Amino acid sequence: MKLSKTNIVLIVVLSLIVVAGIAIAVIMFCGKTEDDRVEVPEEEPVEMRFGFPVYDWKITNDTVRQGDYLGTILNRYGVPMSQVDKIARMSDSVDYTRIAVGRPYSVFSEPIDTALTAKIFVYENSPLMFTVFDFRDSVAVFRNYHDVDTVECTASGRITSSLWNVLDAQGYDWDLAVGMSQVWAWTVDFYALQKDDWFKVVFDGYRVDGETVRIGKVHAGVFSHNGKEMWAIPFVRDSVVEFFDTCGQSIRKTFMKAPLKFTRISSRYTNSRMHPIHHVPKAHLAVDFSAPMGTPIYAASDGRITIRQYGNGAGNYVKIRYNSIYETVYMHLSKFGKYNVGDYVHQGDVIGYVGSTGWSTGPHLHYEVHENGKKINPLNFDPPPAEPVDSANMERFNREKRPWIEKIGKIVLE
Ligand SMILES: [Zn+2]
Repeated sequence: MKLSKTNIVLIVVLSLIVVAGIAIAVIMFCGKTEDDRVEVPEEEPVEMRFGFPVYDWKITNDTVRQGDYLGTILNRYGVPMSQVDKIARMSDSVDYTRIAVGRPYSVFSEPIDTALTAKIFVYENSPLMFTVFDFRDSVAVFRNYHDVDTVECTASGRITSSLWNVLDAQGYDWDLAVGMSQVWAWTVDFYALQKDDWFKVVFDGYRVDGETVRIGKVHAGVFSHNGKEMWAIPFVRDSVVEFFDTCGQSIRKTFMKAPLKFTRISSRYTNSRMHPIHHVPKAHLAVDFSAPMGTPIYAASDGRITIRQYGNGAGNYVKIRYNSIYETVYMHLSKFGKYNVGDYVHQGDVIGYVGSTGWSTGPHLHYEVHENGKKINPLNFDPPPAEPVDSANMERFNREKRPWIEKIGKIVLE
C-alpha cells in the first residue's frame, strides 16, 4: 500500500467531508468466503501473541500517551537506561524509537513479577506491523508482521446526512472512503453528494485474529449519484486494472490537450523566467496560449467551477475542480462564459473568452493544471487514456463482468 499517495488523497477527502457535511446510513458486511475455511486442528493450539506463547507471560497492554517517549515507557517498566541507550545506538534506531500517541503497546513480564519488569516490549506500529524489543538476553530489536487473512467484504449505504461519519462509526477506516473516491473520481462529485445517493461496493478487508484491521483494494461497485447509477467493473487490459461501466465505457475522463483552438504557445512552464511586466525572474508554473481577443476557452474536462472572479494579477479568472486530484485555472479572460461558481461543466463547454485583464501584455490565456494542489506542467500532463473496451476484448469483458454484477446485485441496500 502506497501510504504517501493515500495520505494526500486522505487529506483531500477529510477536508471534503468537513465541507460537505452530508450524512448516511450504512450497513457493512464482512464475511469469510469459502476459501478461508480452515481445517479444525486435532488439539487446542497454543495461544500466541506477537509470536510468544501467552501462558508464559504476564501481559500488560496500554497505549502511547501524549509526552511519552520510547525511553520513558521502557523506564516505567524497569528497563535500565543502559539498555535504552543500546537501542538508540542501533543503526535503525530512529525508526525503532519513533512512536505515536494512541498506538498500542504490550509489556511481557515474568508471571510472578509484581513490578511488571519488561522482558519483552512490543510496540504496534500499525494494525499489520509491530516491533519487538527483546530484553531477555542483552537487547534484540526486530520488526514483524501479523498473519493477515485477506477477506472479500461488501458495504452499502444510502446517503441521508453524513456518509463519512457513519463509515467511521461502523469501524471502517478512511481507506475505504479514499478507495471509493479514487474509483469514482471522474464520475461522482464527492463534493456534492446528494440525499438519496447510494452505493454498493466490494473490497478487500485485511483481517488479523478475526478482526478487520485495514481496508485493501476497492474491487467493484455501483454508486448512484443524482439518480444515475455509475457502475465500476474492473477489467484487466495490458495487465492494468481499469474500471468500466457495464457497457465497457471507461469511467475515467480525459483532458483536452489545449483548452482553446487557434492558438500558439507564447510562454512555457518554467521554474524561472523574466516576468514581462515586473522584469524580475519569476517562476511560470503554467502555459501561456497566445490567441485573438475573444477566442472561446473550454473546460478541459468534466468538473465543477469553484472560482469565477476578478483577481489583481490574474484578471478575470476561472478555476475548475475535476475530482479530488485535479484542478485547472484560466486567467486574463476578457469575459466569462455563462457558467457560475458551483455549476457543473462538461469537457468543451465555454467557460470564458481570451482577454488581457490583470497583469498581461496582450491577449493570451494563462493556463495552470494543479495536481494535488501542486502546479504541474500542462504540456507534460498526460492523464491515462480513457478508451472503452475494444471489440477484440469485448467478449472477455462481457464474460468477466457478469459475476461482478451478480455479486453487487446481491448486496442488500438498507
Ligand atoms: Zn502566464
